Amino acid sequence: MSYKSREKEREYQHQYHLRTWEKRKKRHLELKDKRERALAVWFKIYKGNLKCIICDENYTRCLDFHHLNSKQKDFSVADMVCKGYSTGSIMKEISKCIVLCRNCHAKIHYSKKSLLIKMKFSSRRSLKTKFINFKAV
Ligand SMILES: [Zn+2]
Ligand SMILES: [Zn+2]
Repeated sequence: MSYKSREKEREYQHQYHLRTWEKRKKRHLELKDKRERALAVWFKIYKGNLKCIICDENYTRCLDFHHLNSKQKDFSVADMVCKGYSTGSIMKEISKCIVLCRNCHAKIHYSKKSLLIKMKFSSRRSLKTKFINFKAV
């Protein structure tokens, strides 16, 4: 290929890129938007099955994920959902957490003493109760 035709080819590709750029950008944003909305819906459904392990509050918007060991905390779960992380990595972070409502969460963070938390595990046959000694962080 001669120098001139190579230049021409490059110019053509550049023009093509410019012509399709807006369209591709729009498509990319639409997909991103769709993915983020799907993630938000997934998170809402997931939270819909949870409740605060201290007071049984189950109103989705009041529920937080509290890291049992603050040293293991890589990300805030809510942040991960906002930033569009994969459900797999969100679940991995959730596995290090307990579910608390905003009230109990605030009490734990502001309380200096360690708290005794009653954890309820529902199984098909019975509702098991377990106590864990829980240090405020
Ligand atoms: Zn917390
Ligand atoms: Zn609570």
